[in-house]
Amino acid sequence: MDKEHNHSLIPQEKGELLAKNELVSRSVIKNLIREAISAMEHAYTPYSKFKVGSALLTTKQKIYTGCNIENAGFTPTNCAERTAFFKAVSEGEKEFAAIAIVGGKDGLITDYCPPCGVCRQVIREFVDPRKFLVIIAKSEEEYLVYFLEELLPMSFGPEYL
Ligand SMILES: [Zn+2]
Repeated sequence: MDKEHNHSLIPQEKGELLAKNELVSRSVIKNLIREAISAMEHAYTPYSKFKVGSALLTTKQKIYTGCNIENAGFTPTNCAERTAFFKAVSEGEKEFAAIAIVGGKDGLITDYCPPCGVCRQVIREFVDPRKFLVIIAKSEEEYLVYFLEELLPMSFGPEYL
């Protein structure tokens, strides 16, 4: 692992992180969180009542939102993060900078909502895990920022095939 990324991201290091990725300023992060909260309202969750929203930022500064969509058959259920990625990729997007994620029971955000393992792998398919940012938020003011590499270390991606 190169030295540049060889550290864990804790809140006081956010300034350093943001300096490394000029595409994602604090105001961009707040905007992404706002979009994710808004997208959560469309979550289709008749079974779990656990609503999740996401907002995916392309490197061209375009935002694709997503929500979780449950299904009576359970396994066809799709997460908010994958919804956003599939929307974006289906419209020709291939380069991404960051994703913000919020969620909570009945749409009430009381805690951080990290992406599930399946979504981490789907994200990995399309990004450089050392550069792509995952923003897990409780509000526009309270959030954590990670490189995907921190959430999915030693990952398997397209370059292996
Ligand atoms: Zn997921």
